[in-house]
Amino acid sequence: MENKPVFDEDFVYPKFEKSMIKTHTILIPSMLDIHMALFESVLIQSGYNVEIMKNQGPEVVEEGLKYVHNDTCYPALLVIGQFIDNLNHRDDTHNVVLLITQTGGGCRASNYIHLLRKALVKAGYDYIPVVSLNPSNLEKDSGFHIDYKTIFKIVAAMTYGDVLMYLYNKTRSYEVEAGSAKKLTFDWVDNVSKQFEVGKGTSYRDLRKNINDMAKSFDNLALDLSHAKPKVGIVGEIYIKYASLGNNHLEEFLVSQNAEVMVPGLYGFTLYTMYNAIYDHEIYGRSKKTALINRFLIWYFRRREKLMINAISKTKFTPMKYFKHTKDLSEGVLDHGTKMGEGWLLTAEMMELVEIGYSNVICAQPFGCLPNHICGKGVMKKIKSIHPDANIIAIDYDPSATRVNQENRIKLMLAIAREKISKDDEATL
Ligand code: SF4
Repeated sequence: MENKPVFDEDFVYPKFEKSMIKTHTILIPSMLDIHMALFESVLIQSGYNVEIMKNQGPEVVEEGLKYVHNDTCYPALLVIGQFIDNLNHRDDTHNVVLLITQTGGGCRASNYIHLLRKALVKAGYDYIPVVSLNPSNLEKDSGFHIDYKTIFKIVAAMTYGDVLMYLYNKTRSYEVEAGSAKKLTFDWVDNVSKQFEVGKGTSYRDLRKNINDMAKSFDNLALDLSHAKPKVGIVGEIYIKYASLGNNHLEEFLVSQNAEVMVPGLYGFTLYTMYNAIYDHEIYGRSKKTALINRFLIWYFRRREKLMINAISKTKFTPMKYFKHTKDLSEGVLDHGTKMGEGWLLTAEMMELVEIGYSNVICAQPFGCLPNHICGKGVMKKIKSIHPDANIIAIDYDPSATRVNQENRIKLMLAIAREKISKDDEATL
């Protein structure tokens, strides 16, 4: 295909064709290791060749800066940089497809796909199709479609991913045998993937059994709870919060500093987008039908959320809160009509974390992100007035921010957190 200039409006971007399912590898940006491992096996079982990109390092940022303007949202710069860096290191780039997720909301994330396509043209990869995975029917003419069976598997994978991430975070800082929490987590990833392969693991009954068994197995893991550690929650823009590439391996850094770390699950973001469809109707007069569909979806997800909370309640671990409760916590702090980017979810998650014992909160904010600065940094004073014990800091992530600076600020936060723990305090989970 002829390499057209990026500003050529007549240029027809290549589409994903059905026949490519058998011949092409679908590249997916990395984020949330546990969930991604489950999603990868679901998609492979559905006949897709998928590869979660593992390439990281300064080259990714350099490639991003080459093809994306440096005042663009940092997550876009990283995702595009990771794709281009990956393509630069492949022998054959004629058999790959790039997949990105879009929320379809009003935020700039809904436009990343156009930035990516422009970057591909600039980098000489204009023949590579880009696929969008989104709930809003964006990019309707793509040949990439997921059948209902796969959607049910993905929802089940998300549920297991949230449970496993929660339990892994609860135990990883206290394990007696180094690596045992991670091993248990990925043993479960294998176990569930094998169940999916034989058509099991997605029914309500299977979910209940698996989630109960997961909770029990983590409850039996040997832990050293003789010393309390600072409990730190992470919130922020979804990519920077979840992707180690985006937050400079924040979770690993906190564990290395002898802290317990907690990151809210994907259910929160999913339910947040569903509630927003209802608020869109109630506040902004948008589609009643969409609001009704989302009411049904909320009911569906809340039944599964109950399974998680019930199972964890039977162990020594404090469970997460029901999302309905988390949502209500933000009332009076930020209006639910504030829904660009992570919007009111950011405020609600900070308040939930403080309520379940993670009074030290890091708000991971990407450069160029206005919504997160308003709904994160902008509400911290108010949250501290409600929870005077809350120790919340905002850390900025951008191409020029140095890791040393970020880590020094986090060490200061941890020093304040440690002052509140006496040396005889035992850990409570
Ligand atoms: S949430 Fe922030 S970083 Fe993400 S697309 Fe919106 S403005 Fe950009």
